[in-house]
Amino acid sequence: MIEHGLAAPPVAAYLRTTRGTGSEYLRYPTDKYIRFWGDFLESLELSDISASHIKLSIVDSTNPDIETIKISGRSHLIFDQAIIDVFAMMTSVSFHVSGPRLGITAADFGGRAWWVHALFANRFMNDGRYPEAVVQGDLCARAREMQGDLTIDESRRDRWVETQVAFSLAHEVGHCSVFNGAQVLARSGSASFEEVMRPYVDLMDQEHPVDYQRAPESLVIERRAEEYLKEVNASLVEHGHDPLPHNPLPTYRGMSYGEKLDFILADESGVGEEVVADYLAMSMVARLMAYPEMPVDECLAACVAAVRTMFLLRAVEVISNSYFNSRLPANALADLLNEMRIREEFAGFSAMVLSRRQHLREIDEPDGILSDAAKKALELRSSRIAGFLSHMANRWSEDIFLPIPHEMHAGITFDAVARLGNDPQFQKMTKSPNLASVLAEITGIGRPQVNWPPR
Ligand SMILES: [Zn+2]
Repeated sequence: MIEHGLAAPPVAAYLRTTRGTGSEYLRYPTDKYIRFWGDFLESLELSDISASHIKLSIVDSTNPDIETIKISGRSHLIFDQAIIDVFAMMTSVSFHVSGPRLGITAADFGGRAWWVHALFANRFMNDGRYPEAVVQGDLCARAREMQGDLTIDESRRDRWVETQVAFSLAHEVGHCSVFNGAQVLARSGSASFEEVMRPYVDLMDQEHPVDYQRAPESLVIERRAEEYLKEVNASLVEHGHDPLPHNPLPTYRGMSYGEKLDFILADESGVGEEVVADYLAMSMVARLMAYPEMPVDECLAACVAAVRTMFLLRAVEVISNSYFNSRLPANALADLLNEMRIREEFAGFSAMVLSRRQHLREIDEPDGILSDAAKKALELRSSRIAGFLSHMANRWSEDIFLPIPHEMHAGITFDAVARLGNDPQFQKMTKSPNLASVLAEITGIGRPQVNWPPR
């Protein structure tokens, strides 16, 4: 690991420009991830995968992401600790809404939840959309006051977050080239991914055959996207702006799991690479992040939750962009939601096959030749993690993800900015040099930084 200050000059310069001068001061300890990172690279080397050219910098700003830059042939991962805030927030939210199963009391968020405003405020801020950031920050502060903070098992949450950080680092390595720069790791791993996944999806297709007659889920998604665009356009027109262009939406037919796997393996658009990178990262986490107080299956569930959180960050970005960039109409949202469905499904499948593999390893039967009693034990374990994952998935869609495009969180921003535009108090707030710091405090995302970003 290279600390920001010690990074090679071009990397350090890049970090200063994109993350702020104070971003080398970290808020969270790194030892757990650094150990995982070392073990991870070592286990790649043991599998004859050369990854020593991949460097890691850990920074702390207001920008919750992981990015990879290429500098003179080396891949350089930049991990921003602001993402830890988002993992912590979304894990707390998941614990809340999944309450009963996890032994935590569910809370009724009611209306628009503060964390949604937090995500939008942070996004608008990082995009330099200061008026919109002020509106969302204000909504966040007020909702937070009304809804209160989340009371959850914090040590359990912290283990989930550590697992998710490890997962997100390993996932990102999946996008780096490893074999003489010819192929990224995830692509080179797609054959072994198919080998473990094909029997599982065949089984799933037998048990849950796709109904080609029924309207596929994506039609529901398209309808939501249509509704969303209609409302956005009504608001734009009302305030004297041009409506966003509206191309006919692509129609998706129902697909069996086997067909989805074919799509993932053949896909050039990047969804396939994401799915395989998720799988590789989960298998690494299952092997290398053992907690005495957290079983492997729960680590895998935490990884599935991380897939959703990372996806949520992207969705917030796409949705907020759709207000400012006319090239992002409803089609983009429909595509995005379809992609989410596939990634979510396959992250769940990956957890299932990895849990099974782990079980066979634990009972020392890697070839899977089992007595009846052993088969029963394996089935019991599989059905337990399957139940847990599907409970989490339902809660996530209904309570966390779908309300975001549906309830027009970003739309209210647009109205408010149009209404408040010339208010002197509002103007002053949007120009405050402390805006980033104030928002970091309100949203809980990112390290408060004075005079950042530069104007
Ligand atoms: Zn990715």
